[in-house]
Amino acid sequence: MSGDEKVSVKLIKGGTLIDGTGADVIKGADVLVEGSTIKNIGKDIAAPAGTEVIDAAGKTVMPGLIDSHIHLWGSIAGGMQEWMIRPLELGLLKAATDARAMLNAGYTMVKCCGSSNGLHLRDSAAEGTLKGVPRIIASGHWISQTFGHGDPHLLPTEYVDMRTTRHRSVVTSALLADGVDECIKATRYALRQGADFIKIHVSGGFTSPRDKVTDVQFNLSEIKAIVDTAMQAGKYVTAHYQKSIPSLRNAILGGVKTIEHALLTDDKSVEMAMEKDVIFVSTMSVFRRSLSMNNENAKLIIESYNRLHEYGAVFAAGTDNMGIADTAGKNAGELELMVQYLDLTPMDAIVTATKNGAKACFMGDKTGTIEKGKLADIIMVNGDPSKDITVLQNADKVEMVMLEGNIEKRV
Ligand SMILES: [Zn+2]
Repeated sequence: MSGDEKVSVKLIKGGTLIDGTGADVIKGADVLVEGSTIKNIGKDIAAPAGTEVIDAAGKTVMPGLIDSHIHLWGSIAGGMQEWMIRPLELGLLKAATDARAMLNAGYTMVKCCGSSNGLHLRDSAAEGTLKGVPRIIASGHWISQTFGHGDPHLLPTEYVDMRTTRHRSVVTSALLADGVDECIKATRYALRQGADFIKIHVSGGFTSPRDKVTDVQFNLSEIKAIVDTAMQAGKYVTAHYQKSIPSLRNAILGGVKTIEHALLTDDKSVEMAMEKDVIFVSTMSVFRRSLSMNNENAKLIIESYNRLHEYGAVFAAGTDNMGIADTAGKNAGELELMVQYLDLTPMDAIVTATKNGAKACFMGDKTGTIEKGKLADIIMVNGDPSKDITVLQNADKVEMVMLEGNIEKRV
């Protein structure tokens, strides 16, 4: 910005404020935004001349929402066949549309836990080409052991590993690595591609063709090597983990900072995690069917997530959204599931998608709450999500979206 260019000042006036910390709502609150940051919060703040006033009377003003686990694959129906034969370019364009739908629904930040599209969309937004998308935090490629969750092992190996394949597809996001040396190399490769953080798999998953959700993946020494290599570049490691306590303990001991899915936890592992400030990310949306059938997995998830909440662990909302069936923009369905199935109030659920989401994106000091000095990532909602969490699934109710002080949507 040149010296004589004026910093824009905006006043969001008279709204009902949910600040994202879990504190009670404040009625008739003003939020003053200067440039990209929140300058002041209070009542009857005097607006300097030239201030753009946004009338928030009767509306809720809250932090922009954060989805801490998505994949910007731009899927249509999903499934191996689509992922193998659909041109990558179509996926990229759909992913851009999905990202826009998320911003339109009030999501100002998303964490893409595996997809090279995440890197491209982030960089396209940074160069000013792609507009109207949330801030994207992206891992790019994930690192998996051979015969791990990130290795689609019904395919020949030459179709799979990102560094060697000539069959690039959505599912070839994997860097297969076995042993400490390969883990170091794969981590450096992911960093070289522009990863904001490193995504690994420490257990099997439900969509794995041959390995089981209970399988332990990567040895502790391999996890440590990945974490150390990432930390040398100032980056953190996020781990897919589903249903084997030894995997969870390895991840925590190895220095992993966020644990995704966590369908199974026990008291000891949660205590270990909290000692090391490990963050957990929910993904109830992908288990919607299990939850409605109240099957064994549903019972495990509910028990595990209630345990995390009871312990006061940092618990952030993720959806695992891949864009399938136009679900992008409906991400706040996760919050409804939390309120429906867990011991969380609507306000607790809001914290998982604001303050705790920012922590899961390693941006807790910069955004996630409406507090002085933080980035002005703010939305205005026609309705009160602290009473009815479902309003956040209706993009038409999200009447204003501000990202770093810029108004991206206003109706
Ligand atoms: Zn995922």
